[in-house]
Amino acid sequence: MRIEIIGQKSMDRGMDFEKNIKAQLIKSLNAVGYEMRSVFIARVHELEAEIIGQRNIGLISSDFYNTALGGFDFNLESSHPNAKSLLINTAPDCTDYIEFHTDQGIKPLKLPATYHTKNQIGKIRSIFKEFELNYGIEFNYASLPHKLLAARSGLAKYGRNNVTYSDAFGSFQYLITFTIDIALEEDCWQEAKLMTACENCRKCIKACPTKALSEPRFTLDAEKCITYLNEYPGEFPKWVAKEWHNAIIGCTLCTESCPVNKPHINSGTRIESFDISESQLILSGSPFEQLPSSVQAKLNNCSLASSYQLLSRNIRALL
Ligand code: SF4
Ligand code: SF4
Repeated sequence: MRIEIIGQKSMDRGMDFEKNIKAQLIKSLNAVGYEMRSVFIARVHELEAEIIGQRNIGLISSDFYNTALGGFDFNLESSHPNAKSLLINTAPDCTDYIEFHTDQGIKPLKLPATYHTKNQIGKIRSIFKEFELNYGIEFNYASLPHKLLAARSGLAKYGRNNVTYSDAFGSFQYLITFTIDIALEEDCWQEAKLMTACENCRKCIKACPTKALSEPRFTLDAEKCITYLNEYPGEFPKWVAKEWHNAIIGCTLCTESCPVNKPHINSGTRIESFDISESQLILSGSPFEQLPSSVQAKLNNCSLASSYQLLSRNIRALL
């Protein structure tokens, strides 16, 4: 194939190079079960305008914008000056569980899709690394609203629960965006769509205990959403009933009730087990740096080291 002779960054990058690279990337990602779409880099400003517009008309509260959305990097011209296109990727994911041994016995607690991401990120990065080495292409992680980008690139559609679904994985997917220093000719940018399955269905609205989902509002009321509440520090509001908590972090109630997800739900696997003394350390909120290195390694293994400060509160709510 023509691409095989292109191995240096300094070589002229014509249209065939771009076409071939994208085809090769898609082929490599498909080989491990992943999918990808591309959009022009300039779309990042439309994304930003869309999110600011939602905030300005009150669909996103200023608090939620500042806490959860304010960390996005829309200024890619400065952070990644060579970036020419955005690559939006999806990989299959599922709800797994972690065992905590307590005085009341062994508690298997759910860790929803998207929180245990080491394998997916590792695979995507290693594929991109190969392209960096072989073709001198530069990829960089882009801190952007991956869900909205997936919907805007046609990689996914929205459900009424404000979660994005792909044909291949339902909502059990891990989304991530990278920049690439090649101006790919295909721009998949389009209107975000609602799944047709949602037209006559309201199951997720009924399943949501906090009424974070309602009609006709399409975006969810994030400040009522258990996911938002347990992804950030602070005491849970008094109106949140104990029995509504259902996962170590995040919430699975609306996605598990969704008929579109039925073929994609499995029982998950045990990704880690903390014995009684390890569980007690975590529950007591012992500082991360004072944990034994074996416990730190286990937390790293289940992608929970960065959210460690939330675990004591979140797990206590589940016991
Ligand atoms: S439960 Fe029904 S309405 Fe909600 S996202 Fe799934 S298909 Fe759509
Ligand atoms: S994640 Fe939970 S709280 Fe949030 S909308 Fe879905 S069911 Fe409601």
